[in-house]
Formats: sequence, C-alpha cells, structure tokens
Amino acid sequence: MFNNNFDFENFEDVQEVLTPRKIKNHLDQYVIGQEKAKEILSVAVYNHKKISYMREPIEKSNIIMVGPSGSGKTHIIKTLAKTLNVPYCIADATTLTESGYVGNDVEIVLQQLVNKALEQIRFYDSPEAALEEAVRRAEKGIVFIDEIDKKAAKGESRSVTRDVSGEGVQQALLKLAEGTEVKVPLTGSRKHPHMDQKDSVTINTQNILFIVGGAFQGIEKLIAKRLGYSNSSKTSINLLEETKSEQPKEKLSYNQLINAISAEDLKNFGIIQEFAGRFPIICPLQQLTEKEMVRILTEPKNSIIKQYQKLLAEDEVQLEFQEDALTMIAKKAIKNKTGARGLRAQLEELLRTIMFEAPEYKRKTKIIITKEDIEKTLKESKLVA
Ligand code: ADP
Repeated sequence: MFNNNFDFENFEDVQEVLTPRKIKNHLDQYVIGQEKAKEILSVAVYNHKKISYMREPIEKSNIIMVGPSGSGKTHIIKTLAKTLNVPYCIADATTLTESGYVGNDVEIVLQQLVNKALEQIRFYDSPEAALEEAVRRAEKGIVFIDEIDKKAAKGESRSVTRDVSGEGVQQALLKLAEGTEVKVPLTGSRKHPHMDQKDSVTINTQNILFIVGGAFQGIEKLIAKRLGYSNSSKTSINLLEETKSEQPKEKLSYNQLINAISAEDLKNFGIIQEFAGRFPIICPLQQLTEKEMVRILTEPKNSIIKQYQKLLAEDEVQLEFQEDALTMIAKKAIKNKTGARGLRAQLEELLRTIMFEAPEYKRKTKIIITKEDIEKTLKESKLVA
C-alpha cells in the first residue's frame, strides 16, 4: 500500500500517510477479528517510525505477541510488512541458539532479512549499489521470531522442549533488539548475483522492528491465578466450557484472560526480566470464534475460498459454498484446535476430487458445496464428522 518503503523525507509526511488508523484499515482487509492486536500493532508501528525521526533519544519498544496457534500471529505480521512495503523475515526460535552452540546463531536471522531486501530490488547500476540499498532497507525491516515461548525457562513444556540455551537465546535476541551493529555473513546466499562481491555486511539493528510471538500454552492459568481466580489448574477449554455452566461469574474465558495479560505473567512463564523489559508491548490474540472462522474463509481480499474459486475458474468451474457448509468447516477447525490453520487443509481435501476432474469437464460447470459434501469428506478422510 505504501510504496515508498516506509521512507519519508520528514515526519509530517509520515503523519500524512502512515497514521495508526490508516494502517489498521489496511490490516482490516486481510485480518479478521483480532481488533485489539491490530490496534496495538498499528500504534506500535507508527511510534516506531516516529522515534526514528526524533532528536531526543527515546527507547524503542519491541513487541511480544501471545495467542493460540493458528490465530493469525504470522499472518498479521506478513500483512503488516506488505502494508508498509518493508522487508520482513520470519524465524522460529526453536532453530536458534546463542553463539557457540550447534545450530543457527540469532544473527543468521538478519541474513534472511538482507536476502528479502535484495529480492525487492529490481534495477540497480551495480551489484554494490544493490547491496547497499538492500542493507538500507533491511535496517528498516521487520523481524518476527515465532515460538519464543519454547525458549522460556520454565514454561509448561520445559522438561520436554527446553534446550540448554533457552535463556541464552533470549539474551542474544535482547542484544539485537536493543540496537547493535551486527556483522552478517552473506555466505549461503550465493544464488544472488550481488553476493559474490562481499562476504559480509554490517547491519545496524536500531530501527529494525523486532516482534516475537508464541502460543504460551497454559499462560491463561497464570493470568487467572494472578487475578485471583480459582481455576488455575484447569485447561483453557475447561475454562471456556465452565464459563457457560454453573458459576459464570467465577470463571473467565481464555479470551478474557489473555486480554488481561501483563509482563508479570510472561515472567512467571519463564521470560527473563530484561527481555520482558525490552519487549514491553504485549499484543494478545484471541481464540477465533466459529463466526470469525467463516469470515476468514470468505471475507479477506485473498481469502482461502476466493483463492480456490480463482484456481477453478481457470478450468471454467464456478465454485460456491452454502452457508451451513462453511459453518461446518469452521466447527471442524475449532474442534481440531488448529485455529484457522486447519481451514486450508480441509478445503484441499474437500476439493481434491473436483480439482482432479475439473480440466476434463469440457464445459462451464457450477459446483455448489453443501453440508452433506463436507460430512462425506470428513467421513472418507476419517477426520470424523
Ligand atoms: P499463528 O502464527 O498464530 O500460529 P497463522 O498466522 O500462521 O497463525 O495462521 C494460519 C493461517 O490462517 C494464515 O496463513 C491465514 O491464512 C489464516 N488466518 C489466521 N488468522 C487469521 C485472521 N485473523 N484473519 C484472516 N486469516 C487468518
């Protein structure tokens, strides 16, 4: 949407083009629900930009996203980066190690960012100039590190997945997020013609927006405990169910609890104090409702169903869905606890036979998917109706 790579002559131009409301309006076209998260991120991005124009030294604030798997954390970040037209990269904290351990050093993440920036550059006088421009763009990019909860020191999954360098990785990320100069190796990027010129580049991380995210499974119990609710030993699903039953006033739903999250809960989960301090913007995501799932299927500009409709239109097949068929797909995704992530897999399964046969129809065909079609696919694929 904003074509100038997040680059403005002065702050007045930023205020003109990049207000939080404008950013959110754009996110709204692609991201269903998650109103609070969209608002928090829009403001954070605006402030982040503002700080880079200010003379007084104001500490930048990085963001920590907390919400169930498949609730749209990665999707929002990707949409945000595209909205701002800045390079972004997405890394998984579980693959990262602090320097000295076997695995990827956190600095490798920046290599990805430089590569992304290079991909955006089309025409340049010389490879050197292209690389220079890529570095300039990367230094204003977005880095998203998912599954940070797996590097927490005492999360629920501690005994199974915590690796020895969990805290070390938090420390290493902390350094990057604080703003530092990092020598980024360009090896492994050989495919790119600009890379042959140099072995490494120096990246200043001062203006890079760092966002970490994770499901923080079970954190709602810590929040409930801090708030003085008695349901600390229950799972989130029990919480949801019990909200509807005997003692509604005594229990809060996952969505209510996650909205009340604070840095203290993150610390109780095992995020180290300095890390929480450097990532002070906590962005909670909600468990998506059935209605939101249906909207995700159909409403966004590039919604999953619109994508399949376009694909099949190439074979002159017009694809439609009955409302109760959509509801059934949504219900299934909720039951599977996959969030919106399971929607695409379901559709792929559902439409496979049609996509297999469509090129052979040899005439314009209209296909309407009904609830019965969904039930049949669920049974056939043993996904259970
Ligand atoms: P997370 O990172 O929270 O685990 P993802 O962002 O990977 O979840 O979500 C999986 C997919 O589901 C996305 O690629 C997107 O297509 C869809 N999706 C998830 N949440 C939303 C949402 N709120 N609005 C629109 N699409 C969504």
